Amino acid sequence: MDDNQKQQQPPPPPSPSNKRQEGSGGEPRRDPGNSGDGARARTPDEWKEVLEPDRYEVCINHGTEPPFSGRYNGYSPDGGYMCACCRAELFSSDAKFDSGSGWPSFWRPASEGNIEYVQDTSYGMTRTEVNCGRCGAHLGHVFDDGPAPTNLRYCINSLSLIHESDCRDE
Ligand SMILES: [Zn+2]
Repeated sequence: MDDNQKQQQPPPPPSPSNKRQEGSGGEPRRDPGNSGDGARARTPDEWKEVLEPDRYEVCINHGTEPPFSGRYNGYSPDGGYMCACCRAELFSSDAKFDSGSGWPSFWRPASEGNIEYVQDTSYGMTRTEVNCGRCGAHLGHVFDDGPAPTNLRYCINSLSLIHESDCRDE
């Protein structure tokens, strides 16, 4: 019954061992810092109109949702997690793990090309902020205390994500 709808979904990432931006065989990606793409062209005021206030606070104002408050902490259905703002595929359930932090955690992104990394020196700490590579929405931070094989922990706000099963319900 949902076969026709399913064809509009982007395909899953082809290879679990793919760590590089290039050679994934996926769709062509521009340099994430380059605004060639309509999604990033939205102004904060325009985002305010289309996003719920709590999503706006996290995605556009680079806020952080309270731990254990988000829909996707402790959420385990299979499937992809898209950017809440532009629907770029960011993470997949097969790299999700329970870090105990209170935020959804992943040990790798679905596609490095859809992730933008920025040094964040706020609050007297040096951390690596993780944003959507397509639209620039704030997602969370990445830490180096994750599980093998990457030893990375992408600590992501639920409000920055939409699981594909929730997308279909919209
Ligand atoms: Zn996005």
